This record gives sequence, structure tokens and C-alpha cells, in this order.
Amino acid sequence: MNNNCNIIKDLLPLYADGVCSKESCTLVEEHIKECSACRSELETMGNDIKLPSAKDTAALKRIKRRIRAEKIVAGLVAGAVILGGLSFLTVWLVNTDRSMDVEKYHITENVSVTEHDNALWLSVNGPAASFDFVYPTLSDTDGDHFGHGKGFDKEKKNGLGYTLKQRRIDALAFTEMGTDGFEKKISDIADLGDDIKKIFYYDDVNDKEYILWERD
Ligand SMILES: [Zn+2]
Repeated sequence: MNNNCNIIKDLLPLYADGVCSKESCTLVEEHIKECSACRSELETMGNDIKLPSAKDTAALKRIKRRIRAEKIVAGLVAGAVILGGLSFLTVWLVNTDRSMDVEKYHITENVSVTEHDNALWLSVNGPAASFDFVYPTLSDTDGDHFGHGKGFDKEKKNGLGYTLKQRRIDALAFTEMGTDGFEKKISDIADLGDDIKKIFYYDDVNDKEYILWERD
């Protein structure tokens, strides 16, 4: 340990960082060739201040690339999930029926049964014609409905009813069906069978019958 050592020790951190001037670098290098104390001090610093090697940098880049790829995949998956959800919703809205509101569509005024050509016809007019599906139902003399009432007794069936249903989206139903009336043959009177005494419109939401035709 000499005076030079003190100067060199001041320079060592700069040297280790690689920021000292060329003259200082030469001075440090000349000195540590001879002085083991300063050399070992520099080695200690070198361990502390280890710059990332080329290998580490490559590994970092790989990690960054992988994170980016994972983000892209996560984005694609999220997009696919959203698209799938939207198309499922659309299919559901278009293909799932719902009962038409009797009040809103004036069902009692717009749905009737007419008798001509020895047959019964279901006549639907006005906004109620914008239906998509016709559901037939039977009722028995106790007022229970097949598929709805709990105690429906097919031995006692006496009524044939219809329920109009439409797509979940009103706008689609109107666009596709229009509002022109239509007539649908229910049955030839001769084929109706003795047990059917009435034809009715059935509001399946409120379990309510509207008699449209009754046998004389
Ligand atoms: Zn020294």
C-alpha cells in the first residue's frame, strides 16, 4: 500500500464503470499489474457491477417476444369469445320465440275463427299478423291445457286452441312478416271430431282462453 494506491482507489470505481479517461485507465492498468491489493479490490467491484452479457440480452429479448406473443394470443382469444357471444345472442334473438302480448297486438280484435267452405279458418289481421310461429294447444273440460295445465285429461278434451308467437325482436318479426292478414285452415268441420267443442286463442303467459268459435 503506497500513495499511488490511494489515487488508484479513487479511480477504480470509474475504471470499473468504464468511464475514466484514457490516461487514467493506463495508470490503473499499470498499477494493478504490480499491486495485488488494488487488483483484488477491482475484482470485487467487477463482480458487483456486472453488465448484462450478450447472452442475457438475448434472453431478455426472447422474454419480451414471448410476452408480446402472449398478449396477441390473449387478444385473439378475447376477440373470438366476444364474437362468439354476439353471434350466439343474435341466433338466440332470431330463433327463440316469445308469446305475443295480447294487449299490445290487440289479439282479441285481430284473431278470429271464420266458418266457410265447410271448414274452420284461423283469421289473423293487423299487427297480430306479424307472428312467426303458431302453437296449437288442447284444453279439457276442466280448463286445463295440454302442456301447460298440470291436470290435463285427454279423455275430457273439448277445445282446440292456438297461440301466436314471434321472434324475440319485434323489428325482425315486423320486417319479415309484414302486417297483412292471413287465413289458415284449422280443419274441415267434418274432420274436427266430436270431442272438439270450441276453438280458442290461448294466452299462455296468463293461462287465459279467448273463445273464438263454439259448436252450436
Ligand atoms: Zn495499489
